[in-house]
Amino acid sequence: MTIKLKYFIVNWKMFGHFSDYKIVNRINDFCKKSQKLFKTKKIVLCVPNTLIYYFNNKITSKYISLGAQNCHHSKKNGPFTGSVNASMLQNSGAEFIILGHSENRSEGDNNKLIKQKIISSLDKKLHVILCIGETLNQKRNKKTFSIIKNQLIKSLDKKMNPKKIFIAYEPIWSIGTNKVPKIKDLIEIIKFVKKEYKKIIKVKLNPTVLYGGSVNHKNISLFSSISEIDGFLIGGASQSSKKFIDIIKNYYK
Ligand code: PEP
Repeated sequence: MTIKLKYFIVNWKMFGHFSDYKIVNRINDFCKKSQKLFKTKKIVLCVPNTLIYYFNNKITSKYISLGAQNCHHSKKNGPFTGSVNASMLQNSGAEFIILGHSENRSEGDNNKLIKQKIISSLDKKLHVILCIGETLNQKRNKKTFSIIKNQLIKSLDKKMNPKKIFIAYEPIWSIGTNKVPKIKDLIEIIKFVKKEYKKIIKVKLNPTVLYGGSVNHKNISLFSSISEIDGFLIGGASQSSKKFIDIIKNYYK
């Protein structure tokens, strides 16, 4: 039996300075001390663009990769003041990229634009972490499944490399709120995401599907029993190396 890799992906959002290399050092040390544990897991640090190149020179563990949090959709360089494209991010050392985060969707990123961003990121060989999820109102109106199906259909297509696309199910009502879905609901949704993804991309292999939304070192044990979850996207709790490392430790307790 092959054990599927588990991902612990941090989303630092618009936080972080050069001095936070200390956090990277502590995570490096943790990976080195827990070599055995790390054969089946991977950490991805999705940090602000300003830190990617700098942190790339600080990472000493092969179990850690760097990622970005968004990009401009254009493959080519151009007159887009303040923007960076996938090519620039890859050139700085990013191997992953978060796309379609609800915080970016709320600023205007729609499924069509997200699809273009996915295409240019895949073109630069980045792994894409596509965020999907419903609002509280949509959940209350029982629209969760139709919303996430629509997000998947509109942003993915069968020409895309399935090995390079991860999905992060992040219910918007759960981000930064300390609220998490019921386990029973989460299992059903993750299974649904995998089924729909396989229909769109036309693959037999199960895709990598993550959960994100208020994950912390206290509630992570709730998720350990859900074998369908391939990893986590962690926002607030990832800005402290202790809290982040405790999440990983408690997951395997
Ligand atoms: C996120 O913003 O992707 C996220 C999961 O945030 P938090 O963990 O803070 O809910």
